[in-house]
Amino acid sequence: MRIVLLGPPGAGKGTQAQRLADELGIVHLATGDMLRHAVATGTELGRKAKAYLDRGDLLPDQVILDIMGEELDLRNSGEGFLLDGFPRTTGQAEGLDALMAKRGERIDAAPLLKVSEPELIRRLLGRATIEGRSDDTAEVIHNRLAVYTRETLPIIEHYRGHGILIEVDGEGTTEEVYQRLLHAVRNGVT
Ligand code: AMP
Repeated sequence: MRIVLLGPPGAGKGTQAQRLADELGIVHLATGDMLRHAVATGTELGRKAKAYLDRGDLLPDQVILDIMGEELDLRNSGEGFLLDGFPRTTGQAEGLDALMAKRGERIDAAPLLKVSEPELIRRLLGRATIEGRSDDTAEVIHNRLAVYTRETLPIIEHYRGHGILIEVDGEGTTEEVYQRLLHAVRNGVT
């Protein structure tokens, strides 16, 4: 199964994605994790990415599409994959479609985790204290939410148009949201 997990920063994508991928026996690919790892290990990509991450801005589409193209080839994604934090722009969504067409594959489901803005801000500020992520400060959080609204919201319509968007209530306990997500991807668009 090939899944694109959608939702704003703080919606719980990272929390849910690995468990969901393990349950479904598919690879979890998170662009944010890859980029943070590149920054931490000081690779060329990391040096380029750091300023974007610190500001909460998006890296150029082509950089991300090149990374994802490589990762999908390198990682054992034959059984399927769950993409987390990608695509984030219309350009990336179209690039992913082209990548899928080249591989003779298609995305099966695009669950969207829905969480209200006050709850998102509360969660992101809480995470800043717990995880110490450099992009979880108040100023950067507001930029990331603005970037999401401007750049990423339009791709919801892209997947709705493909008939694979599934809206999932992202509020409640981690377990409740997980069960809703699992049900959504197993039962498809209802
Ligand atoms: P995340 O952990 O998914 O919130 O991503 C953290 C940061 O990594 C983002 O604020 C961006 O700076 C960068 N990033 C992650 N995924 C992408 C993407 N698909 N396109 C561009 N930048 C990204």
